[in-house]
Amino acid sequence: NKWVYSFGADATEGRADMKNLLGGKGANLAEMANLGLPVPPGFTITTGVCTYFYANGRNYPPELKAQVEAAVKRLEQAMDATFGDPANPLLVSVRSGARASMPGMMDTVLNLGLNDATAAGLAKRSGDARFAYDSYRRFIQMYSNVVLDVDHHHFEEILDNHKRDKNHNLDTDLSAADWQAVIEDYKKAVEHELGRPFPQDVQEQLWGAVGAVFGSWMNARAITYRKLHDIPADWGTAVNVQCMVFGNMGNDCATGVAFTRNPSTGENAFYGEYLVNAQGEDVVAGIRTPQHLTIAGKQANKSDLPAMEEVMPEVFNQLNEVRLTLEKHYRDMQDIEFTVQQNKLFMLQTRNGKRTAPAALKIAVDLADEGLIDKAEAVRRIDPASLDQLLHPTLDPKAERKVIAKGLPASPGAASGKVVFTADEAETLAGQGEAVILCRVETSPEDIHGMHAARGILTTRGGMTSHAAVVARGMGRACVSGAGDLRVDYKTKTMSVRGIAIKEGDIVTIDGSTGEVMLGEVPTIQPELSGDFATLMGWADSLRRMKIRTNAETPLDARTARKFGAEGIGLSRTEHMFFDPDRILAVREMILAESEAGRRAALAKLEPFQKKDFVELFTIMSGLPVTIRLLDPPLHEFLPNTEAEMAEVAKATGTDQLKVNHRVVQLHEANPMLGHRGCRLGITYPEIYEMQARAIFSAVAEVSKTTGETVMPEVMIPLIGTKKELDILKAVVDRVAKEVIEQTGVSFDYMVGTMIELPRAALKAGEIAETAEFFSYGTNDLTQTTFGLSRDDAGAFLPEYQRQGILEHDPFQTLDQDGVGELIAIATERGRKTRPNIKLGICGEHGGDPASISFCEKVGLDYVSCSPYRVPIARLAAAQAAL
Ligand code: PEP
Ligand code: MG
Repeated sequence: NKWVYSFGADATEGRADMKNLLGGKGANLAEMANLGLPVPPGFTITTGVCTYFYANGRNYPPELKAQVEAAVKRLEQAMDATFGDPANPLLVSVRSGARASMPGMMDTVLNLGLNDATAAGLAKRSGDARFAYDSYRRFIQMYSNVVLDVDHHHFEEILDNHKRDKNHNLDTDLSAADWQAVIEDYKKAVEHELGRPFPQDVQEQLWGAVGAVFGSWMNARAITYRKLHDIPADWGTAVNVQCMVFGNMGNDCATGVAFTRNPSTGENAFYGEYLVNAQGEDVVAGIRTPQHLTIAGKQANKSDLPAMEEVMPEVFNQLNEVRLTLEKHYRDMQDIEFTVQQNKLFMLQTRNGKRTAPAALKIAVDLADEGLIDKAEAVRRIDPASLDQLLHPTLDPKAERKVIAKGLPASPGAASGKVVFTADEAETLAGQGEAVILCRVETSPEDIHGMHAARGILTTRGGMTSHAAVVARGMGRACVSGAGDLRVDYKTKTMSVRGIAIKEGDIVTIDGSTGEVMLGEVPTIQPELSGDFATLMGWADSLRRMKIRTNAETPLDARTARKFGAEGIGLSRTEHMFFDPDRILAVREMILAESEAGRRAALAKLEPFQKKDFVELFTIMSGLPVTIRLLDPPLHEFLPNTEAEMAEVAKATGTDQLKVNHRVVQLHEANPMLGHRGCRLGITYPEIYEMQARAIFSAVAEVSKTTGETVMPEVMIPLIGTKKELDILKAVVDRVAKEVIEQTGVSFDYMVGTMIELPRAALKAGEIAETAEFFSYGTNDLTQTTFGLSRDDAGAFLPEYQRQGILEHDPFQTLDQDGVGELIAIATERGRKTRPNIKLGICGEHGGDPASISFCEKVGLDYVSCSPYRVPIARLAAAQAAL
């Protein structure tokens, strides 16, 4: 069995595509060596050893020792030095390297192979005692910390005391003798902590470091990180042992880290930092201020320190060549580490660099334009979820922020405005052109108009699927939910946190991407939707099969969605139009009426409003399909609940307030979500659906007459469980359509279909498709009813289910493909069998979730429909699903 792979010095055995065996770092070191780049020679102990180690009671495979010894021998020959030889010592670094980069594991030990004797030898041979003892003290500290688990502070204290005694400011001020004194104290500290001396045997050092790397695979931090990032424990880590090159041998030495393009903007410019006369950890440790690589970088950051381009121009040019070679080879932006030893460049690492969302976009588009990747690859490289960051204003990263509380990042984007505590106040102030933040303990459907008017929404109670969170995401409003430290007092119109009181009218800023609540106005940056964004979305559009529609009922949402590229409306929830303050009274009148005549009278008041809504929607969507869902929610959501509201309804209807009270009690339901809602309303009060159908069709007639454009209405009946329900209600819709055509003399086409949101409907889809011309999967209710989980109450225990691994994801956010998905697959198959050209879509929250969209592509739906701000995400996810 081969457990060890060499690289560098003309004997490289690995390749970039061997990450599973060699880990990311090891595979890329081998690849760089294969490219002829200057890589110090070394070897990789494979991930297979890690797996063996844990499968065999933390023992190594018997062949390992001999293979490592042979690999070390090769290094000794290549470097003309001997491991542990006081006259001419070979020094190595030992680093971990899993398949995916994993902070939280043992990282690096440098200068391994130094002890009292070899340090003296290195001093003599290099002619630089300061360098030798500087290296030795670094080794003692790193090895003790990383391998022997002695805390950093012991070493920092010793060094600080020594610097104070000698009046030294910088580490570079210390002489060889100073370092020797520090080393003596370091060794004493280690012996005191561990009860045994610091290991002088270089073999013990090497195997100690190797053991520490494998041991760190199972440390608590690494286990947590793997859980968070779905990395399986059986992947294991590799260990890389590599000859040391020294960046701390004098002023012709340096060490640095760089990105081949700017990782925050994506600009095609070399971007990095370096330090003269230093070793790797100094650059990140923040002890000295790193210098810029390029003159342009130095100028852009207003640094007085000279750039590498000026200080060592030849080495810089060589590094810049390496940068171009690596980009061309890897066809992606790279994150590299290098060291310069006496004006000679060495590469220590390369990997695909992490980047911000705007940078990812720019880099993908630029690489495609440069011909390094094709358009499909550019589309594949963007994480659809990351687009969210690009569609909303974000806080200016340079701005100061005074965070006073933290809640959940419920809906992305940043917003500032005056604090208001009621939806009405939000609407009034916004009407006067003020930016407002609506602050509530929690929100309810009655607050919709205020949420719409506000720039952002802040609640002190509720989770990621609370009313506030879901509605805010749908509207594209920033939202922080469940900021529990804040206390809202509606009576005094104040909120407070730890002695800070905020009055109505005070200005706050919320960041819905982090959950932070800040005092005062923090400047924001507006999103850029043209340029690279538009280019990449265009490529995605050319590659996808499914159409993308939006869930929208207000003109603003419909316009926003079109701007984002929606190709129609997949769900217009007509009840949202009922909550408007102008209309709610008539809605309440209708519900409280005890006779059909009473209901018809109230409905007659609503019809013109509804018609106007539909005229607007049809006009905005000019010719694109628009699915309108007839009334769905349980009636209790519309009922008056305060004395004042009941009095208002009593007055408006000329009834006694006691009677109104009584009717409210009478209509109360124990399980309204499973109660008198959806098509059940249409069955019991057909006049409601009749009014809505008339409003829809007269709007169709009006718009097609005035614009000459074909309007494509799709009338959707919610919560169907049986074919009979649909038959009865379709007959109502068809009759009204016929009447409107006769009355207006305008003929038009329309479709009648249903939501599939109950398990029975999914199972009986074959039968239902005899009547339904389209299905739209309402996966919110379908998830709710398949699991028997209430979407309003599940937040109390779902997190525990995820912790225990019973459910991997929140099924209300990511479709449960196994269960709910099976129902969708069944309904799709049975529906198509009856009606081969049946139109199929999804309009639950899942329609905007990339993983769920990929499932929709698999079952072959015609479209997904999602909230306006998720339309670009869906466009990209649908393209990736089709690739
Ligand atoms: C659904 O149930 O998935 C749906 C879209 O309808 P609503 O969320 O309005 O119940
Ligand atoms: Mg539903």
